[in-house]
Amino acid sequence: MSVEVLTFGCRLNAFESEVIAREAARAGLSDTVIVNSCAVTGEAVAQARQSIRKLKRERPETRIVVTGCAAQTQATMFAGMDEVDRVVGNDDKMRGEAWRMTRAAFDGAGEGKLAVSDIMAARTMAPHRLESFRGLPRAVVQVQNGCDHRCTFCIIPFGRGNSRSVPMEAVVDQIRALAAHGHAEIVLTGVDLTSYGADLPDRPTLGRLTKRILREVPELRRLRLSSIDSIEADRDLLDAIATDARLMPHLHLSLQSGDDLILKRMKRRHARADAIAFCAEVRRLRSDIALGADLIAGFPTETEEMFSRSLDLVEECGLTFLHVFPYSARPGTPATRMPQVAGPAIKERAARLRAAGEAALRKRLEAEVGATREVLIESATTGRTEHFVPVMIAGETPGTVRTMTIAGHDGVRLVV
Ligand code: SF4
Repeated sequence: MSVEVLTFGCRLNAFESEVIAREAARAGLSDTVIVNSCAVTGEAVAQARQSIRKLKRERPETRIVVTGCAAQTQATMFAGMDEVDRVVGNDDKMRGEAWRMTRAAFDGAGEGKLAVSDIMAARTMAPHRLESFRGLPRAVVQVQNGCDHRCTFCIIPFGRGNSRSVPMEAVVDQIRALAAHGHAEIVLTGVDLTSYGADLPDRPTLGRLTKRILREVPELRRLRLSSIDSIEADRDLLDAIATDARLMPHLHLSLQSGDDLILKRMKRRHARADAIAFCAEVRRLRSDIALGADLIAGFPTETEEMFSRSLDLVEECGLTFLHVFPYSARPGTPATRMPQVAGPAIKERAARLRAAGEAALRKRLEAEVGATREVLIESATTGRTEHFVPVMIAGETPGTVRTMTIAGHDGVRLVV
């Protein structure tokens, strides 16, 4: 058996798993499963542990390597599991050397399970050029990693280090290769995407990168952005949103809360009014834009009144897609030292936010009926419009983009 990569978490991990699979195979590893873990919530870490135990029970001969954000932030814990043969750091995993060392260790030439370097020492990103992305219609390209901010609830900087960017030339080259391979849509991803370029010589911005990709890769049909921090969106980015139809009219915003005092306690860089103003501005620039947001329910000290301001932010910002995170205390983050909201209240608030999200999506689906949309066919049964709205389809070829008239919806997806 060759090497398998089990991916948890975000689009960054999805991109990185492609590189890990290639580098581990090149190193000659076999009979090995690599768990590319996530640490964003306690639940995500528990899922990785459960999968490791299940894997070893079902396939006792298989070697198990754990990497990813949970391996970086809780390396000793994973090394302490009998089922685990090796723990590889989150920056190390992107280097061929780490997998050659792992092979050597498995061949008896190396000592110990731990191969985790100091993530805060990572200063650059080794560009990785993928020729294709899992044969999927939509490919993900990592252009930035790490984060210089220290939001009080967030463990990501401790799993991924400080912000670093892939040089623009390497990004354009990567996207050209994936477009040539037939990927109709590319998603730019990072941890703090809007801080792209701040560490590069002439400090290019995300907006400049976006414009350069659209200019230099005319064969690319659709460019999409993953989550952004609205307060850091630059002028060029807004200009590209307003003027270039190949930049998808869909933004996902890292808002987290609708209450100013909570935003302050989270150490976020924006206020409620900034979020509302940003949404109004992008809607002025691109009237059909679809907006989504990450919102946390039950952040420490959040009262019912404060929570109600997150709830009504859905309407005030005209959000369509909600990613709701019940607050999860992450080890070592400052928020764990604040007065905690009771578990049942966190759950109940998350349920109310999700319900608001479902109602907002239904409202958008209703408004789409009768419209003509460009649908990226993702599989035999599903596609997504340029606004990222899911569509139920049949008998179409995955990877193609089809012009379709929306006939109706089932409350969750559009119907053509
Ligand atoms: S901006 Fe804040 S929430 Fe986002 S990765 Fe950085 S520290 Fe975490």
